[in-house]
Amino acid sequence: MVLFITGRCNRTCWYCPISSERKGKDTAYANDREIRCDEDLLEEARIMSALGTGITGGEPFLVPDRIVHYCRLLKDTFGDDHHIHMYTGIAPDDAKLEALVGLVDEIRFHPPHEIWPQIMESRFPAQIRKAKELGMEVTIEVPSLPGIEAFEPLLDDLNFFNINELEWSETNAHEMRLRGFDLEDCYHNAVGGAEEWTRTIRRHEKVHWCTSTFKDSIQLRERLKRIAANTARTFEEITEDGTIIYGVLECGEDVPDIDPEIMEVIDGRVEMAWWVLTDCFKDHPGKKYVVERYPNKGMIVEVIPV
Ligand code: SF4
Repeated sequence: MVLFITGRCNRTCWYCPISSERKGKDTAYANDREIRCDEDLLEEARIMSALGTGITGGEPFLVPDRIVHYCRLLKDTFGDDHHIHMYTGIAPDDAKLEALVGLVDEIRFHPPHEIWPQIMESRFPAQIRKAKELGMEVTIEVPSLPGIEAFEPLLDDLNFFNINELEWSETNAHEMRLRGFDLEDCYHNAVGGAEEWTRTIRRHEKVHWCTSTFKDSIQLRERLKRIAANTARTFEEITEDGTIIYGVLECGEDVPDIDPEIMEVIDGRVEMAWWVLTDCFKDHPGKKYVVERYPNKGMIVEVIPV
């Protein structure tokens, strides 16, 4: 599960991928669900059978009490095996790190691009070692940008070094253009050249390279499939992409006689297995269509008239 703990951040990285709806707002989300109370967080974790949580933002250390509260809630509810990793763009002081012992299993530092050339003189190496001494796994996770080889002297102190292929987004498109960057192709968010800048450092065994295609398609698909498996109605088909498909007959009061196992009546609309609609009700009066959408009343992907 992705726990977006706040949209606030004091940094202004030009490549920041946070959407304009979330950026700067002190609102927390569990995946796409806004968290208004603790039960929202727990319900989302249950719905996807979450084995772990990644805390992201914004800058989580701007709300340190919230990190402790949510981590404790997750560990108390799902047990110590519920793995928690969190991202931060700062090198937190000793007290902030000590408060997370037993709650956060792994810290993923993402030092901002402007300090990469001086990374070895910054506070990051010392605080990375401190986090390790406190028993946490320590990773650096950064986007693929020119100058990434500056991290090579730090690799021995880390458990992992993750590189995310630089991604084009609605919020950073202007800055990308200013720097002369362009999309790799017309189909993905990857930025041209992003793979080449990492060619040398990627030879190191601790380096993990995460392409934008992997993040877009594999990670999202796996999350949707888990949610669909827990929430789909008996008559809904779950696709290979984790979306669900069902048929709709808008028939007002004229509800046909169908096995309730394969239908649900909602406001003058009968929702049913798509194949029942196309096989048995093609000629029934009323509007008919097949819906494909993300599970748990998520985004509609396609509506096909019958
Ligand atoms: S530190 Fe992270 S959240 Fe903050 S501006 Fe940079 S990329 Fe965005």
